[in-house]
Amino acid sequence: MGAMPEATRPAVPRSFATAQVQAGFVSGLAENTAVPSIHQSNGFEFASLSEARDLFALRKDGNIYSRAANPTVLVFERRVAELEGGIGAAGVASGQAAVAVALLALAKQGEHIVAARQLYGGTVDLLQDTFADWGIEASFVDQDDLAAWQAAVRPTTRALFAESISNPIAQVLDLGAVAAVARRAGVPLVIDNTVATPYLQRAKDFGADIVVHSATKFIGGHGTSLGGVVVDLGTFDFTAEPERWPQLTHTYPRVPDGSLVERFGATASPYIALVKTKYVHDLGPSLSAFNAFQLLQGLETLDLRMERHTASALAVAEFLQTHPAVARVHHPGLASSPWHANAQTYLPRGASSVFAFDLHATGDADADFRLVEDLISRLQVIRLVANIGDARSLVAHPASMTHSHMSPAQLAEAHISPTTIRLSIGLEDARDIVDDLRRALDGVVASAPAETAGAERQLAESSSR
Ligand SMILES: *Cc1c(COP(=O)(O)O)cnc(C)c1O
Repeated sequence: MGAMPEATRPAVPRSFATAQVQAGFVSGLAENTAVPSIHQSNGFEFASLSEARDLFALRKDGNIYSRAANPTVLVFERRVAELEGGIGAAGVASGQAAVAVALLALAKQGEHIVAARQLYGGTVDLLQDTFADWGIEASFVDQDDLAAWQAAVRPTTRALFAESISNPIAQVLDLGAVAAVARRAGVPLVIDNTVATPYLQRAKDFGADIVVHSATKFIGGHGTSLGGVVVDLGTFDFTAEPERWPQLTHTYPRVPDGSLVERFGATASPYIALVKTKYVHDLGPSLSAFNAFQLLQGLETLDLRMERHTASALAVAEFLQTHPAVARVHHPGLASSPWHANAQTYLPRGASSVFAFDLHATGDADADFRLVEDLISRLQVIRLVANIGDARSLVAHPASMTHSHMSPAQLAEAHISPTTIRLSIGLEDARDIVDDLRRALDGVVASAPAETAGAERQLAESSSR
């Protein structure tokens, strides 16, 4: 069920770089492929009807049908589980599906979730619109306000949910403090670790219980394949208050002889078993074998890529804060960031590559839009794409793209101004990325009307020095 059977466990402890290349795969097929194969097959042939009966009754582990489980997807699940230090994982079709099934397995109609209001827009839509339709309530709190997390907890609360690094402002969560609130509330802390990746942060080390990823982003890393994954870190004890979690501790009609905890508790993750046998099975957001293969290719270089992404992004951020056309740089690796201290605690290897900066706003919405459009039109290395975590450097304008449905008040709360520009720094040469931004920013200043004349003067002074 996505847990690691003995055969795939390493005989000696594996370091991150070794696990990202080897975990979850044992070459054992007749073909002896050295690389996990793409098992592009909907169904799997049974040796006998008796075997089919045992597989369907979940008495025996094995392949039935690729909506429920696929051998290529299984390698991906085991590999991510090991990188996150988890006990089991479920690969799904997208990050959005990962968030949905992770939370549906915890909260049902009449129950409640406390979530950071800084969440990815798609997750906010899911919680405040679709989950609301289904009678699952969500309260949104400022993720830095610990008293607000505590105050939002109700007897019906079944999960706390936040991102380890939010986007576009790159706010770094005080994960340990929010985990303490979750522990007091007796509910799991679910962390969306998409922007950090398990290389920059093992959320488990700071008290998270469940991790989700949009594998579409850095895990795949090449902008080619949607995917998501839910990982059970094995830290939350669903049997401590069994009446709170009947979906795991009461008789489950889909397995014989009792509950998911009884069936899987000793050897695997009952929670992941629920995610797969109920939510992925019933709703159908399965990860394809081909995409799982692409995501595995990405994982093999995750640490190398994250080192480059992170170092280049910091270099770009440091450049941006010296340019007179730039009003603010929101990068937690900079000492000026309010989240710098959290970054040092929670992201010792660096603060990822998704961050934002603001141009000097004019106060006029149309003029601000034209200013940003002018800048983006001058970029030649960095591409205008609504995605992050790609090998290519990408730019987006939150106020007119990803966050365009937010009210001015919501935008202000999220620290997003009309001239906030999001970057996802890719794997190109950092000097080319910096030069691209310098050319574009200089060009904007040179062609700007009176409102940025001050910046132009400063630019002339700084370049004559
Ligand atoms: C992109 C993203 C998602 C949604 O993932 P998809 O793969 O696009 O469905 C969820 N959370 C975060 C933080 C993301 O960046």
